[in-house]
Amino acid sequence: MSEPKYKTLVPDIEFWKGMIPCQAACPVKTDAGKYVQLIAEGQFKESYLTARSPNPFASVCGRVCAAPCEDACRRGKIDAPITIRALKRFVTEKYGVESMEPDTQDDLRNGVTDEGNKRRWHLPVLQESRANVARGQKVAVIGAGPAGISAAHDLALMGYRVTVFEASNQAGGMMYHGIPEFRLARAIIEKEIQKVTQLGVEIRLNCPLNEKFGARELKAEGYESIFLSVGVQKGRHEHRGRRPRWRDQGNRLPAEHQQRLSR
Ligand code: SF4
Repeated sequence: MSEPKYKTLVPDIEFWKGMIPCQAACPVKTDAGKYVQLIAEGQFKESYLTARSPNPFASVCGRVCAAPCEDACRRGKIDAPITIRALKRFVTEKYGVESMEPDTQDDLRNGVTDEGNKRRWHLPVLQESRANVARGQKVAVIGAGPAGISAAHDLALMGYRVTVFEASNQAGGMMYHGIPEFRLARAIIEKEIQKVTQLGVEIRLNCPLNEKFGARELKAEGYESIFLSVGVQKGRHEHRGRRPRWRDQGNRLPAEHQQRLSR
């Protein structure tokens, strides 16, 4: 039998989510259309809360996110995409951890009503919505990079007792070690992490998992679940196949390139 000319598609939830391409493309499903619209209406605080709601690193992302939302933006098919990331930075500078009102995000958790999350699509954050999700079970998160801290943030909001074990002496992972300071101020990373620890998350530095301290030991300490977020510490080889000659010379750049970089 030949292929039918037209295919029937039964829309499911994924279909409808895909109708909002910027939100579907965002790794944390930020309601970008909503916060851009709120900025246009002059509601900057609401806009910040919308951007912050699913994302404990809204201020970091306002500066360094690769912005896949902009790649997917429908407006880009007409002329140019909306500058979603820059607009996020605009509102974080007004209400984020780096602003004069760094506790604005606490509004997401305060309130007398429990409408789930006050911003639709996102994790319920109010105390009442969390009451029956978890009852203080202990969860270990391995790695204090963006994934680990974000998981700790969400789990803490759900009522779990979370401890993050970090191998190095610094929380932040690749935000800290992989992004230069002139692109992302260390104070912003630290302040966003501090907001997560204020939820009761404990971060233990210099605590690598090894033969002496592994899953068995964590279970013995009462951790019921373990979230592994050990990161991407290995670099990619951009020159597949043929290695650049300077890599064979002990990873040292040739003198002429070193001179150029030091200028
Ligand atoms: S800038 Fe990044 S975090 Fe913000 S909406 Fe776009 S993809 Fe999501």
